[in-house]
Parts: sequence; C-alpha cells; structure tokens
Amino acid sequence: MAKKDYYQILGVAKDAKADEIKKAYRRLARKYHPDVNPNDKVAEERFKEVQEAYDVLSDEKKRKVFDRFGYYNDNLDADSPFAAGARSGTSAPGFDFSGFQWESGSSGGSSSFRDIFSDLFGGGTRVEAEPPRAIPKRGRDIEIPLALSFEEAFSGLVTNITVNRSEQCSRCQGAGDTGGPVVTCTTCKGTGQVLKTGGRLQFSQECPDCSGTGRRRTPCSLCSGKGTTPKSEQVKIKIPAGVDTGSRVRIPKKGHGGRLGAEPGDLYILTNVGKHPFLTRKGDNVYVTVPITVPEAALGTKIEVPTVEGKAQLKIPPGTESGQKFRLRERGFPSLRNPKLRGDQFVEVKITLPKVLSEETKDVLRQFEKLNSENPRKSMGLE
Ligand SMILES: [Zn+2]
Ligand SMILES: [Zn+2]
Repeated sequence: MAKKDYYQILGVAKDAKADEIKKAYRRLARKYHPDVNPNDKVAEERFKEVQEAYDVLSDEKKRKVFDRFGYYNDNLDADSPFAAGARSGTSAPGFDFSGFQWESGSSGGSSSFRDIFSDLFGGGTRVEAEPPRAIPKRGRDIEIPLALSFEEAFSGLVTNITVNRSEQCSRCQGAGDTGGPVVTCTTCKGTGQVLKTGGRLQFSQECPDCSGTGRRRTPCSLCSGKGTTPKSEQVKIKIPAGVDTGSRVRIPKKGHGGRLGAEPGDLYILTNVGKHPFLTRKGDNVYVTVPITVPEAALGTKIEVPTVEGKAQLKIPPGTESGQKFRLRERGFPSLRNPKLRGDQFVEVKITLPKVLSEETKDVLRQFEKLNSENPRKSMGLE
C-alpha cells in the first residue's frame, strides 16, 4: 500500500493546529459525503481518505506516530526507541473501515467522528450526538491588583475588598442543565463555534457551552447554563508584612466557583507598592542618602535619619568622608519567607556646603586652608 500524506489529503500544513485540522476535515467531509455525491465512486474514495487522515491527525498520539514514521498503524509507538524499520513485520496504514458505518445511523466510528457528524449537516444528521455531560470542574482563579503604601508594605495589611466572583449554581449544582430535552445551543446557534476577539484579530473557537457539538440540554433557568451565578462579595484579605511590587498573595477558594462540587479557584492579590519620599528599597534592604555639613563630617556628631518606622539616630564619626555608607542593622523590611528576619538600612552621607558663603565664612576657610596645607591629590601626582 502506498504511503499517504495525510496533511496533503486535508490540505493543511505539517504544523497545523487541531482546530485547523478539524475545520479542513469538516469542509472536505461535506464536499465528498456520499449523501451529496450519490453513486460517485471517486467521491466515496476521497471521503474515506479524508476520514482516514482525520482519524490519525485529530488524535495527538496517532499524529505523533505519523509524524515520526510517515504512516500510522496501531502497533507503532512514537516514543519507542526503535525506528520504523525495526518492525518490518507490520504493514503500513491499517485503517479498517468495516466498523465505520455512516449509512446505518448506528454509533459506528470513533467518538470524534460522531462529534463532527452531529453538526456536519445540521438537522439532517444521521448520527445524533448526545451532548456531553458536564464534569466537575475547579473554578478559575481571580487576580486583583492592590495598591499599597511603602509603610503598609512594611507592616502588612488586613482589609476588605469587593470581589466579583461566581458561585456554583444552586439550582443545577453547576451541571448547566436540569435534565431537560436536547436543544440547539443558543450560544453558538448550533454551529459549535464562537467568535473570539484577541487584540485586533477575530478567530473562531470551540463553543464552551456545548463543547463544539452545537447541541445541549435545555439550559438551567437560573444560570442560563453557565453552571455558576455571579456574586459580588466582600472578602477579608491579609497582606503579610514585607510584600513588594509584584508579590502575589493567595487567598484560597475565593476565586470563581467550581462546578458539580469541585473546588472554587483561588483569589490572588497582586501588590503594587508606592514610593517613599526619601527611602528606596531593594529586596528587603532600604537605602537613603542624607546630607551632612563640613563641621559635622570633620568633627563627628549624632544625626537623625529617616527609616520606614520613623526617625533613628546615627553616629557620624570624626573625619567622615562624603559618600561613606553606614549600616543600620535590621531596620529594613521583614522577609516574606521568614518574618523573623529583617533586611538592613544603608545610609549614605553626602557633605554639603552652606548655600551662601558669607565673607566671614570665607575668611575662616582661608585660615583653615593655611592650617591644613596638605594636597589630597598628591598621590595622583597632581597639584
Ligand atoms: Zn444552573
Ligand atoms: Zn454551542
């Protein structure tokens, strides 16, 4: 049997996504369907080929095998270390159509065929699909940004915020229906596809309310079939001390409601910490630059410096240079990983001159120069 290129048969690229393959298959299956081409042997052959190609390419495992070996049969394993030649006893594509009875209206064929056939010809479908039953599904997480001041990030915060979440529907327990008759899905009007807008692009996606089948049971009247109902809730949140911009604080089970008894998702608070007028923060350490006068630097003194907890004392030793740094141990932020640990604060001093120099001050400085005639650039060989 000659090897067939299933990608070519469906007219899709080798890297085509699952929905592209599905779309191509739908188009071709409609075109070559025996109902449309009665007594046309060529169309029938094409129809079988298209089925065969779709059977393999729509199944992730089978497709992997086909990609690796160039053909598919059930004995091949894409992850096997043996190359195709090592299994010369197996024959190339062994697709058996005997089990696929599209004319009988029975449930022959794989489930993927039945899903597709349910919306291939709308009302004229021979193989009626059962809409899939909802399965328990954990609720989606919610992420909410929260602005905090520098000080609030230091001390932590307990507050209430309003969260627009959802809860499992009390009427259908999240099933989305209460067992009524099967009807055409109103979300997608029976097409199985819905249009989504992503940026400027519009693309179609499998309808989430009918899983692409176009049909579903009569939706629950309370939740319109969504399985959850919206709820605006006051949630008490606790932001631990030491968060920084970009920290994610998890509040368990306050995300969207689950379905059929599954757990709700979690709520995540994404913190954005404001600036301090003087202090900057890197990790758990805090940095500040403080001006000191010439006499303070030369003679030494005690000054006040700002910290996240208010003022602190810093001893300036005699002969302090401009740019010198001092460490205040454990005056930084608490560590998020271990609240017992704290960062440090680093104080850089900068010597400043008086804004206006009086004649009297200038005289004093001239006298100072006479008394201290050393050249600080001598070691550089400069005057
Ligand atoms: Zn409901
Ligand atoms: Zn739908």
